[in-house]
Amino acid sequence: MRLFQYLLLLTLLYSCGRHKGKTADLIIHNATVYTMTDSDQKIEAIAIKDGKIIEIGAERQILNKYSADEYIDAQKRDVYPGLIDAHGHILNYARLKLSVDLVGCKSYDQMLVRIEKYQGKHNRPFIIGRGWDQSIWGENELPNNKKLNELFPDIPVCLFRVDGHALLANDKLIETSNLYERFESDPELNQGGYIVYDNEQQPTGVFVDNAMQPILDILPDFPEADLMREILEIQGELFSYGITGVHEAGVTAKEVRLIEKLIEKDQLSLNIYAMLLPTQENIDFAKKNGVYSNKNLLIRSFKVYGDGALGSRGACLKKEYHDHPGHFGYLTTSLDRMRMIAELCETIGYQMNTHAIGDSANKTVLDIYAGIHTINPDHRWRIEHAQVVDPADQLLFAKYRIFPSVQPTHATSDQRWAEKRLGKDRMKGAYAYRSLLDQFGMIALGTDFPVEYPDPFRTIHAAVERTDIEGYPGGGFYPSEKLTLEECMKGMTIWAALAAFQENELGTIEVGKDATLVIFDKPLRSNVEFQPNFARTTIIKGKKVYSVE
Ligand SMILES: [Zn+2]
Repeated sequence: MRLFQYLLLLTLLYSCGRHKGKTADLIIHNATVYTMTDSDQKIEAIAIKDGKIIEIGAERQILNKYSADEYIDAQKRDVYPGLIDAHGHILNYARLKLSVDLVGCKSYDQMLVRIEKYQGKHNRPFIIGRGWDQSIWGENELPNNKKLNELFPDIPVCLFRVDGHALLANDKLIETSNLYERFESDPELNQGGYIVYDNEQQPTGVFVDNAMQPILDILPDFPEADLMREILEIQGELFSYGITGVHEAGVTAKEVRLIEKLIEKDQLSLNIYAMLLPTQENIDFAKKNGVYSNKNLLIRSFKVYGDGALGSRGACLKKEYHDHPGHFGYLTTSLDRMRMIAELCETIGYQMNTHAIGDSANKTVLDIYAGIHTINPDHRWRIEHAQVVDPADQLLFAKYRIFPSVQPTHATSDQRWAEKRLGKDRMKGAYAYRSLLDQFGMIALGTDFPVEYPDPFRTIHAAVERTDIEGYPGGGFYPSEKLTLEECMKGMTIWAALAAFQENELGTIEVGKDATLVIFDKPLRSNVEFQPNFARTTIIKGKKVYSVE
């Protein structure tokens, strides 16, 4: 008997010792793990080695089997795959931070005060501001530049609307850009955009979509060092929310080089899925390189602007604007050009991601994609925003396997005026995220920052409750379009990964995938009342990139 016990003890010791012999770099334990897979197995611990998840399971199972260099006791907190913002603009956000920040200005006068303050501090030879939104001032109509001219007669001033689809220029800037002369000599320049006139047929200084081009052509950029500093600061902000990846919705070749410089210096570890703007330089790049990756940067798509935005009446609608008879909006890229880019994408194995806001633009883009679908069934081409889709066209997303990529906070921000633009009838197909999800079975979620805040908890609130953070409107804005919390989290993890061909590395907590995770401070729930939250620890490929401890 005694011998038997001795042998048993020996066996136990041996097996424990042998199992404990397995090593990991990091173990996260005592956690409530949401794997974002369909498995309902209870996961409490994750073993990580060489940047990958090597095992997941119950607390004892992992702790008994591995010894690790580092342990994180999650204290029962929620652990999710690192969040992905499927549509953001890091570069524009960096520029916003270097410009006069006009986001949230409650009046035209407040905007002027901010510009004066900024100019008093920076004394720039060319003032750029970003983020005004006349709907917050209680104005349905776009502003004019009279007061701006009085205040700044000698310095060019360029103020972008929050959606980036319109700008307010002072007369000095209009003069400097030779805008009217350029339109006279090249009438095509004004297609896919418009100049805003007042009731006396005087130009207001507001230019929308393609009509901004002469000004954009002379707009100075900020010094590279300043942009780089801001990008890193933004990265820190994103990490603090648990965001580990961004689908950067439209970059120039110069911006790609800037991102790569930061990656080469090991300063930028955020996963960036960059969509190329279809400039000639980018087209040449794509033809030469095909699918391109450099560490945490992946390039295999083009971002095309199908139409403008609803707020500035550039969205292309099937029927006239409810608050602007005779005006339908427009396509900002011609049909021929969109088809040319689609064919290029098909040839080189790229994805095409087209901005489409209005129901006409959505139908046009769906039709273009439909022609390509028959050739390659797994193209995963996307429509960015899919904001107003005729209910009769929604089934085309399913039929042609087209990914809707939407921003739930747009619904709760635009609710103040969307119906004014569209009228009651068309609202049925507006911000219809539930309907789109039911069609395609997946939906990628983003914020379009800096148009909206990058805060994913606002996205959760907007998607699940369909109210703004003040809880307006009670019961939710078109509540039948609510998503569940789980669907919302999939939209920011696995579905977003699938929308970027990254599902083998990202999007779920599974063995073999990147150890790219977030431990949230508070449990992830949605409530009628908005609940701010943040990450306690954010991990990319097994490395802590952010921690409050
Ligand atoms: Zn965008």
